[in-house]
Amino acid sequence: MVGKRGPINITCQNPDCSFFQIEEGKDITKNGHNTTGNQQYHCHHCGQYFIETRNTPLYHSRLPRSEVLLIAKHAVEKTSIRGVSRIIDHHRDTISRYYHLIGDHAEILNDHNICDVPAGDCEMDEIREFIQKKQKSPK
Ligand SMILES: [Zn+2]
Repeated sequence: MVGKRGPINITCQNPDCSFFQIEEGKDITKNGHNTTGNQQYHCHHCGQYFIETRNTPLYHSRLPRSEVLLIAKHAVEKTSIRGVSRIIDHHRDTISRYYHLIGDHAEILNDHNICDVPAGDCEMDEIREFIQKKQKSPK
């Protein structure tokens, strides 16, 4: 007897799929774990297999999840790359690479989540102030 499917909080991560990152109508099942312990999924629309970290800074990450999360927290607090490098004891190039990955991912999330938000009076004031500052500043 087949048990009831549990909730799956992931969408298809294949850009060629017609259900790419679309929640409505998705047909995804869990498909065990890969050798690194990540949950694997299978999309029945495109037939692709993918893991839970696909299209995230954790994808193909050699650092443990806890360290990547720590780097992300420092990125939010705008801690210097050399500072994080000393705290976590990894090379500054590694921290820099993760800062870029986290920044790119945050930008994608921002674009995805914040759309069709009408600008209120406060935002209009900020835009007006920004334009006025731009006009005052010498080129
Ligand atoms: Zn798919």
